[in-house]
Amino acid sequence: MMIALVTGAGSGIGAAIALRLAADGHTVAVNDLSLEAAKATVEKIHAAGGVAGAYAADVSDEVAVTEMVDLITEDFGAPEILVNNAGFGHQARFTEIEPAMFDKIFAVHVRGNYLCTRACLPAMLEKGQGHIVNIASQLGQIGGVELVHYAGAKAAVIGMTKSLAREVSTQGVRVNAVAPGPINTPLVEALSEEWKTAKRAELPLGRFGSPAEIGGVVSFLVSDDAALFVGQTLGPNSGDVML
Ligand code: NAD
Repeated sequence: MMIALVTGAGSGIGAAIALRLAADGHTVAVNDLSLEAAKATVEKIHAAGGVAGAYAADVSDEVAVTEMVDLITEDFGAPEILVNNAGFGHQARFTEIEPAMFDKIFAVHVRGNYLCTRACLPAMLEKGQGHIVNIASQLGQIGGVELVHYAGAKAAVIGMTKSLAREVSTQGVRVNAVAPGPINTPLVEALSEEWKTAKRAELPLGRFGSPAEIGGVVSFLVSDDAALFVGQTLGPNSGDVML
């Protein structure tokens, strides 16, 4: 069993990944911007008999990320599983995207991924064992209207996944991405009912995914059953994108 760090795990997909990894027997460091949200996930893990701790940090803040990983290492040991999940959604026509929002999307999704990986990778390489799972989005594969900034950042995450996988896989660290379709979380619940009804109707599966179903994909990717998965982008997307 390993020590896992899941970012943005105070809500939605991240919380479900943290719960699943804990149920699998891993020790889980639950990160979120909000300490309260991280603690709520930790309480659920404890209630289910798992081992976890809450760590508040903004993944786009270099100092906060370094301090967080140092603290996790003191408390439990260096993370052997890193799930880069923290993120947020934002929609705007290209001409309406403000530079500050463009920068923020890239800061959290791309720089955050880079900083957390940078903080965790050296110990994984030293040990010759580790797993990095990056939560991208199918929008990073196919794009989306009013999503140039978000889809661009998620495409960057897929490119980073492939490049790092090429670099470190022979040293025992497997790097993969998950590109979910619509998943029932606060991020998607905030979208209009009209959009959700229309989107559900066009999905081959006819329904959105649940956060727990993404937890299952991450659980598989960090298991020995996924030994041959290197630099892949798995698509739990209700059939919306078939590559
Ligand atoms: P969510 O809003 O339910 O949860 C995201 C969590 O990340 C929140 O608790 C938030 O506080 C945290 N967070 C945001 N910025 C952070 C930061 N800078 N540092 C640390 N934590 C931060 O959203 P979700 O739907 O669970 O999304 C999780 C990930 O999955 C995101 O990367 C999102 O882009 C991706 N995703 C979601 C969907 C979907 O349909 N819900 C689909 C594809 C990809």
